[in-house]
Amino acid sequence: MDPINVVKDKCVGCGLCLKACPFGAITLEERLAVIDVGKCNLCGACVEACKFDAITIRSAAAAALDLSAFRGVWVFAEQKEGVVQSITYELLGEGRKLADDLQMPLCAVLLGHDINSQSTELTSRGADHVYLVDRPELAYFQDEPYANVLIDLVQRHKPAILLCGATTIGRSLVSRVAVTVNAGLTADCTGLAIDPETGNLLQTRPAFGGNIMATIISPNHRPQMSTVRHKVMKEAVVVEGRGGDIILEQVADALLRSRTRRLRFEAERETTMNIAEANIIVSGGRGLQAPENFSLVRELAEVLGAGVGSSRAAVDAGWMPYSHQVGQTGKTVCPKIYIACGISGQIQHLAGMSSSDLIVAINKDAEAPIFKVANYGLVGDVFKILPLLTREFRKVLKK
Ligand SMILES: Cc1cc2nc3c(=O)[nH]c(=O)nc-3n(C[C@H](O)[C@H](O)[C@H](O)COP(=O)(O)OP(=O)(O)OC[C@H]3O[C@@H](n4cnc5c(N)ncnc54)[C@H](O)[C@@H]3O)c2cc1C
Repeated sequence: MDPINVVKDKCVGCGLCLKACPFGAITLEERLAVIDVGKCNLCGACVEACKFDAITIRSAAAAALDLSAFRGVWVFAEQKEGVVQSITYELLGEGRKLADDLQMPLCAVLLGHDINSQSTELTSRGADHVYLVDRPELAYFQDEPYANVLIDLVQRHKPAILLCGATTIGRSLVSRVAVTVNAGLTADCTGLAIDPETGNLLQTRPAFGGNIMATIISPNHRPQMSTVRHKVMKEAVVVEGRGGDIILEQVADALLRSRTRRLRFEAERETTMNIAEANIIVSGGRGLQAPENFSLVRELAEVLGAGVGSSRAAVDAGWMPYSHQVGQTGKTVCPKIYIACGISGQIQHLAGMSSSDLIVAINKDAEAPIFKVANYGLVGDVFKILPLLTREFRKVLKK
């Protein structure tokens, strides 16, 4: 396939591309643009000039790339303190479907130290191969060595697709990898599928503040890289006895160098649980009016054994730490019960919680948009309702 092509069905023979081409590489033949690839230097002026999207171009580097040499769906297996994180299992669940559609193997990439025991969990949840790099320098995440090692593996093994969690680690890691291997990267995907005609990865994510869903493709570069939000996809289940290959990879010492050094690790001082993992979340918004009033939310959360969430308005006001923010620019959560207190339910908040199994909203404004997604709505003052709920649940749950 030539690096530049005219789409016959779209070209109307208007001649705009002829005028735009600085090299005189285009002629019109029977009202169809014809490009002399010998004269063309792929500057792209004709592509920009064409109003009918009738000219497609691939960069010289992309044109030289043999896409068929790239095989396999890879999942970066994020681990903390030697334990694979649940986002990895969500990626394996989705990755399995993609790999089956493409008839390619599903592979996990596990970097760390003394973590071989985690490999079997990955194979039992669907990975056909695990690429394991076991070095003390990789015991915990650091940008440079992790990125260098992943780049090295990608360049040697050439996966068609590389998936990573849209976590703090995942976002930091894969952007470096994508730039170095000259691949596209679609961040924060909420849906992935294979185009049955082209075999390209269809990467769907919210755009323009969650008002539209955009589907993005990377047809000319490999691997096709996506980060995927936590709790959007279902975890792959363990299949007892399912095996796979564990491939111990050796890497050059030079790849493990880092300009940064971890001095110590300080866990965030927060007594409540990680909301991304919580089965019940009680969330507060601007309707709570002051930071100290979040104690009402915390009390109910404590009685229910729930995590504490927050709208961005409460985070921006400095009432709650960012790690509690639910929504488009915060965490995506999928608890069994989500209780929204004094939260209006703007689209950016809904983007992070609307797939909760059961939503309860407390708001004094009966017209608040949160009631459109709520299964149960309590119209009233959060300062009166929250203490009542806490008292009643305490009584009932004590029994
Ligand atoms: C690019 C972008 C990204 C964003 N990302 C996020 C995100 O990740 N998460 C997020 O939450 N927002 C996000 N936002 C902000 C979002 O648009 C809203 O501004 C925000 O969610 C509003 O928070 P809120 O519902 O707490 O406040 P408000 O919209 O001010 O709502 C407060 C609600 O409290 C009710 N209320 C007031 N007093 C009481 C009372 N006494 N009793 C009961 N109810 C009461 C009011 O009726 C009102 O409905 C984003 C915005 C943009 C532009």
